[in-house]
Amino acid sequence: MPDRSRFRIVEDIRFRSHRSPAGHPERPERLLAVAHAIKSFEGSFSRIEPRAAEPEEILRVHDRAHLREIERAVQQAPAHLDPDTYVSSESFDVARLAAGSCVDLARSIACGEATAGLAAVRPPGHHAEADRAMGFCLFNNVAIAARALQSEAGLDKLLILDWDVHHGNGTQHSFEADPSILYVSAHEFPHYPGTGDFGEAGCGAGLGTTVNIALPAGCGDGEYLGVLAHVLVPIARQFEPEMILVSCGFDAHRDDPLSAMQLSGPGYLAITRLVRQLADELCEGRVVFVLEGGYSPSGLQEGTEALLRGMLETLPAEATSRPEAPAGSTLRAVLDRVIEVHGRRYPGIAAL
Ligand SMILES: [Zn+2]
Repeated sequence: MPDRSRFRIVEDIRFRSHRSPAGHPERPERLLAVAHAIKSFEGSFSRIEPRAAEPEEILRVHDRAHLREIERAVQQAPAHLDPDTYVSSESFDVARLAAGSCVDLARSIACGEATAGLAAVRPPGHHAEADRAMGFCLFNNVAIAARALQSEAGLDKLLILDWDVHHGNGTQHSFEADPSILYVSAHEFPHYPGTGDFGEAGCGAGLGTTVNIALPAGCGDGEYLGVLAHVLVPIARQFEPEMILVSCGFDAHRDDPLSAMQLSGPGYLAITRLVRQLADELCEGRVVFVLEGGYSPSGLQEGTEALLRGMLETLPAEATSRPEAPAGSTLRAVLDRVIEVHGRRYPGIAAL
């Protein structure tokens, strides 16, 4: 069994120096709520120091022109790169620090120094495209970490689960033609950024390794646990990843101002336990959680506490039961759409 004392966290006050315009939801104070939750588990995990990503690590995912654009933008800071996405004078350095920290944390798990971990970083990453910043995101932290694992840690097949309430367009586009990375996203739809409908299933050799679970507004604990149990678990078993990376937003929390979802603290605990059990079953417990969104202090704190409880505390003896999906339910309707697109490729999803 994996040793849970080998849970590792990267957290640093420098991630707060990407300074937001007044009233912006992606603000430094978000990390105070996360830090508060982490503090209550002090002693049961180790830490690693943040490190700035080298240009060549970022260039595995982003164009050189994009890297230069962020570097140039901070010289005119404060500035906006799009209506949502800003930079302050420290943002280039902080964004490099976020990406490099995710790389190092993921690598320390891949090489066995740690079993699992959390990167409590900002700015977030999953909306950042190869050629542009978008949706509060400058560099795609989780994508950069995944490419580093493949280039330097000898891992090949990776699963990226994105449970942020928004679709991770940048991550999807980075890997949609690549069969070695399975991208599974459960998100509110329709919603920002507009991508992530069921039919977006990858392209070329990557057809089928993009799985979008487009949830209607109002979904809560039952629907989230249901889609992960009925879709993620069978697909992951068939794919057999060597490590799981989670784009871990807490903006599907019921207190979040940017979404209409209803996840609770116990809901985040349940989905964390499911991911942990899956990682234990498939890849020796190897899972790294990378903070994405989450814009209410209560949601960030409850979500982070639930995540750490789920990863650090002993799992309950009884197995988590798979939620039922009766005819006429929202869960049933969502599962039917996923089966329509992916059922032939992944027979396990259809075996309800
Ligand atoms: Zn989000």
